Amino acid sequence: MITLEQCQQWDAADTLASLKNQFELPQGVIYLDGNSLGAKPRQAVERAQAVINQQWGTDLINSWNKAGWWDLPVRLGNKIGRLIGAQENETVVTDTTSLNLFKVLAAAVHIQQNNDNTRKIIIAERDSFPTDIYMIEGFMALINQGYQLHLIDSPADLTTSINQHTAVVVLSHVNYRTGYLHDMAATNELVHAHDALLIWDLCHSIGAVPIDLNSSNSDFAIGCTYKYLNGGPGAPAMLWVHERYQTAFSQPLSGWWGHAQPFDMAVNYTPADNIRRYLCGTQPIVSMSLIESGVDIFLQTDMHALRRKSLQLTDLLIALTEQECTGFDLTLITPREHAHRGSHISLCHPHGYAVVQALIARGVIGDYREPEVIRLGITPLYLSYVDIWLAVQHLKQVLHNQEWAQPQFHTRGQVT
Ligand SMILES: *Cc1c(COP(=O)(O)O)cnc(C)c1O
Repeated sequence: MITLEQCQQWDAADTLASLKNQFELPQGVIYLDGNSLGAKPRQAVERAQAVINQQWGTDLINSWNKAGWWDLPVRLGNKIGRLIGAQENETVVTDTTSLNLFKVLAAAVHIQQNNDNTRKIIIAERDSFPTDIYMIEGFMALINQGYQLHLIDSPADLTTSINQHTAVVVLSHVNYRTGYLHDMAATNELVHAHDALLIWDLCHSIGAVPIDLNSSNSDFAIGCTYKYLNGGPGAPAMLWVHERYQTAFSQPLSGWWGHAQPFDMAVNYTPADNIRRYLCGTQPIVSMSLIESGVDIFLQTDMHALRRKSLQLTDLLIALTEQECTGFDLTLITPREHAHRGSHISLCHPHGYAVVQALIARGVIGDYREPEVIRLGITPLYLSYVDIWLAVQHLKQVLHNQEWAQPQFHTRGQVT
């Protein structure tokens, strides 16, 4: 039996607890949606003011040099690189995850064409975040060279589907719906044993679980900065390419920011001989600047300490829902095994959408994903053990009182 007092003791002993002070969250809110939009670091306001008032307002165009705007994608990429086992100058911050997938997919397909042009299959997961599938479809239609998309239904299906026809595999390191976590090193090994290339989508794992792209021998990775990294709404995404592929192909969105000598204003495109070749055009500097406030908080701790707390909190959430909410038709779809669990917990309920709305009305902000999935994100930077206790007490009340049956919880907003 887990008690509130026990949770209070865990909080008192939590060495990461003080990091919460670096975020500004509204009073009375338990925020379980940092996996979709991270909370606001306090420092972000000061940084936004500096960028808008000083860099833009006062220094004007000088800021491209003086404030390092031109170097920002690589400088920030290197900071994020420290969280994902990247070497210097292997990571950039730019564009969106969707666009970055297009770029690295083009690179991977092109590299494979040079190796063995008979490989025409791209493997992805049916349960991947849909934009990944949409972008692959769009890319295949554009190049129109007989590529086919093969969708697998479970991680185990990869073993039986991959073969000598596979060119590229695209996987989400952590599944956005179930929270399933792939074994990165073992999956790279499997894919490489078939001479295929693998693109990791890190959207739900960057800042959530320890990642070591180099020691796991990964090829390509892309991911969001506005989820666990707390970069701010719509903040540009990251892109990482293993050193061995950085100059093997220049991606097709060959804008001037990826040019070797952009200020030569040359007539023709020559890609930079480094990771900058994955840039395209002028970046949203204000938004990009804010990412640093979130990343700097991570750099005060380490991903292994965060992972320990994340697993304790997700274990606690599972245990408490089983202790407090039995008989209410909740089904856990997140793996119990630590080795395959990301940092969110998903519970199915026949009225999942309305349950989430009723929780939000009580100040417990999670989100809903089709079909029937209540998704509760666990961000150890700003959640306590007591927060988890309280969230489960609210869930229990919503279910016990059937609050979800109230009509106002059944209307859908534009974004769910
Ligand atoms: C959130 C998310 C995205 C979002 O892509 P955008 O281009 O930023 O809209 C892509 N892939 C996965 C797996 C995600 O979770």
